[in-house]
Amino acid sequence: MTMSGDPIRVVLVEDNLADAELEVRELKRAGLRVEHRVVDTEGDFRLALAESHLDVILSDFSMPGFDGMAALALSRELRPETPFIFVSGTLGEDYAIRALKNGATDYVLKSNLVRLSAAVERALADAKERAERRGVEAELLGARKRLAEIMNSLPDMYWSVELPSERILYISPNSAGIFGRAPEEFLRDADLWNEAVHAEDRARMLEAWKKLVLKDLPFDIEYRLVRPDGRIVWVNDRGHVVRSVAGVPERVDGVVRDITEQVEHRRRIARLSRIRELSSSINQALVRVRERQGLFEEICRIAVHVGRFKGAHVGLADPQSGDVRWACRTGVIRGQGELPVSAREDVEAGQGLVGRALRSAQPQMWNDVEHDAGVRNREHFLALGIAAIGTFPLSVEGKPIGVFSLHAGEREFFDQEEVALLQELAANVSFALELMNKQERIAYLAHHDALTGLPNRVLFDERLKQAVEDARSAGRPVTLALFDLERFKGINDALGPHIGDRVLQALARRMESTRGGIERIARLGGNVFASILPESADELERRLEPDLARFFGPAFEVEGQEIRLSAKLGIASFPRDGADAASLFRNAEASLKHAKETGERFLFYAPHINARAAEQRELENRLRKAVEQRELFLHYQPKLDLASRKIVGLEALMRWQAPEGGLVSPVKFIPVLEQTGLILEAGRQAIAAASLLYRSWQARGLDAPRIAVNVSALQLRRRSFVEDVRMALGSAVADGGGVDLEITESLLMSEVEESISKLRDLRTLGLRVALDDFGTGYSSLAYLSKLPLDTLKIDRGFVRGLTANADDTSIVSTIISLAQSLRLKVVAEGVETEEQAQLLRLLRCDQVQGFLFSPPLPPERLEALLKPL
Ligand code: C2E
Ligand code: CA
Ligand code: CA
Repeated sequence: MTMSGDPIRVVLVEDNLADAELEVRELKRAGLRVEHRVVDTEGDFRLALAESHLDVILSDFSMPGFDGMAALALSRELRPETPFIFVSGTLGEDYAIRALKNGATDYVLKSNLVRLSAAVERALADAKERAERRGVEAELLGARKRLAEIMNSLPDMYWSVELPSERILYISPNSAGIFGRAPEEFLRDADLWNEAVHAEDRARMLEAWKKLVLKDLPFDIEYRLVRPDGRIVWVNDRGHVVRSVAGVPERVDGVVRDITEQVEHRRRIARLSRIRELSSSINQALVRVRERQGLFEEICRIAVHVGRFKGAHVGLADPQSGDVRWACRTGVIRGQGELPVSAREDVEAGQGLVGRALRSAQPQMWNDVEHDAGVRNREHFLALGIAAIGTFPLSVEGKPIGVFSLHAGEREFFDQEEVALLQELAANVSFALELMNKQERIAYLAHHDALTGLPNRVLFDERLKQAVEDARSAGRPVTLALFDLERFKGINDALGPHIGDRVLQALARRMESTRGGIERIARLGGNVFASILPESADELERRLEPDLARFFGPAFEVEGQEIRLSAKLGIASFPRDGADAASLFRNAEASLKHAKETGERFLFYAPHINARAAEQRELENRLRKAVEQRELFLHYQPKLDLASRKIVGLEALMRWQAPEGGLVSPVKFIPVLEQTGLILEAGRQAIAAASLLYRSWQARGLDAPRIAVNVSALQLRRRSFVEDVRMALGSAVADGGGVDLEITESLLMSEVEESISKLRDLRTLGLRVALDDFGTGYSSLAYLSKLPLDTLKIDRGFVRGLTANADDTSIVSTIISLAQSLRLKVVAEGVETEEQAQLLRLLRCDQVQGFLFSPPLPPERLEALLKPL
């Protein structure tokens, strides 16, 4: 082995040079290549040991100057790996053992030197093997160190548990990062892990563990850890059973990962989608719910049921006192007593979120009810499980009028994104409230007489209908009295209209107090008042004189003037004088007219008063013939763009030339057509005629405006209405055959859903739809925003009063802004003066129609106004 390569370097610790010579010769004799050096002092030996290359030490045992044992000790200290062989003349058994114990590799007796080469060779071989082993071990150690470093740097924590003992075998170093505890702590304390799991999650975790160990079900769960510093960490813990070759479960290996951030992120997404869901439900409610209180209750309900908030409320601030009252409170706060709340800054009650939100018009929140400074009623909220509260102002016309508050069970619920979404939501609610306000104002103004505050004709008609229905079902009579003030025009002329107004107001108060409430009184027009009386005509007759004496007996004192009024009355009673509200009214009117003609103070209806019934039948017959023979025709009135004054559309208005001369007004014959059902055929003819005219104009190269045809309730109510229209249009379905429709509000009130779907179908055919006479009916915001409409037509009654009457101006302006919010075009009809047109322009009305521009005209006359394309 040693014949090739480097020679063996030997140090001989020997005082006897001859012996040394012998030993070297012996080695060489055995075929070893040897380089040697002899030392016999400690100093030289140290030098030799310091040489870089030294393979073996041969040492005598006893020397005069240097002791063999000392040499051994020195060499073990300085070169522990180099073989040390005693070569000695004498060596007792005891010494030999001591020498080997102290690290000698071998010993050879000088008397038996033939063994020396074998001993050296074996020692060298052993040394080599040891050296190799050391290399492997060093490598192993390095690898283990590197592995530990990797483990240390991994974000996850690995673990291994022995089965079935469930003893923890291994925990990787990052237990420190995740649990906040070193691996050794787990090895020492078997319960530590369970204890670190959040109390609420512990049972679930143990359950999953049991399933893994007993049934080998997958173990992959999320739970919370509570670290020694109190911080809570969400982890994902996964494990699997490791089996022996024989299939016996030996241990479970697993990994724990910190997913706190992920969980936070997931929850944020969930929170946001929760709020989006909330938003969309509330937006639907905004369209669906028509009055304020109902809306508040609905959004509070949705916040709890859809938004999964713990509680929600809407609070409204009293504009004078600043006191906040709860319009609704849902969820855990429902029915809970609360501290008083105010919008005012100078009182304790105004220091909470609601007060701050109302004053700043900005959302306010406590994201941590337990710890935030200044939380009013903290204990109360905590007891209800409320951890965060956000309060969002609701504003109408830029002024905060109330708040919408949400109570969350999670701390830090309201972060930037949520707040932005909720702010938008509050803005939508505010917008709806604003529309409702406008709507209510229109409804109020449209249903009340502005001068006296009494109900007007529109409202009165409703009430009369209701009164008759009530009377019918209760089997009671009800009586209608119409009052026409005498000489009233004279008062106006003589004393000035403002005195006249004051007198009317005073009369209204007097009637109100006598009759006890205004529900049954109305002002129907200039000097006509009406009253509904829950009694028979006979009962009324008995006390009519004293009542009239009370109304008209005492003089009215106005600005130092004594003014006396008197009135004529026409009276009709249900069921005796009429079977419904309309005939009752007609007959009361007939009595009033008769009273005025005959000079009676009051007249109760009697059949002879009304000869009109016969007339009516006559009219019906003639109209039937007219429809059959197509004697009804259309005139067309232009609608103009207010800015450019160009014709942008036409309205078709039905005309009838009565056989015995004279055009009959549609106001007279349309109701008869409706009562007899003839309107269905007449209406069909109108649509067909309008479309035909439009197409003939087009064919002749004229710039034909679209033609709007009026549609009666009777027509729209038919299930087949869409089909009726399609038939009337014939083949001309493209672009709706140039035809649009005008429908009245009252018509849409019944069967809303059906109306909506019919209108939608019509619009798909290309017909546009206008709501006619807007402002006189009751259509609510909810309907308006839902109806598939293109245009609102402001009733000409409002246009008439536009320049004279502030109420009408206000109605018109409100209607226009309402239409704009709903993205509808507005047309004002009945425009008769330039002044009205100017004012409408200022109010940003889109289109106008009226005698100022053109009366309804026969088609030939209109043609002159149309331009070629
Ligand atoms: P409407 O739909 O409100 O039609 C507008 C009415 O105002 C028309 O009365 C028109 O002649 C009149 N008008 C136009 N400009 C002015 C103006 O500057 N001042 C005033 N004071 N009035 C103006 P008309 O033609 O007498 O029709 C009355 C109503 O009869 C219509 O009111 C509509 O409700 C109904 N009507 C007319 N044609 C038809 C029809 O073909 N079918 C149905 N169902 N109803 C119709
Ligand atoms: Ca119309
Ligand atoms: Ca109209």
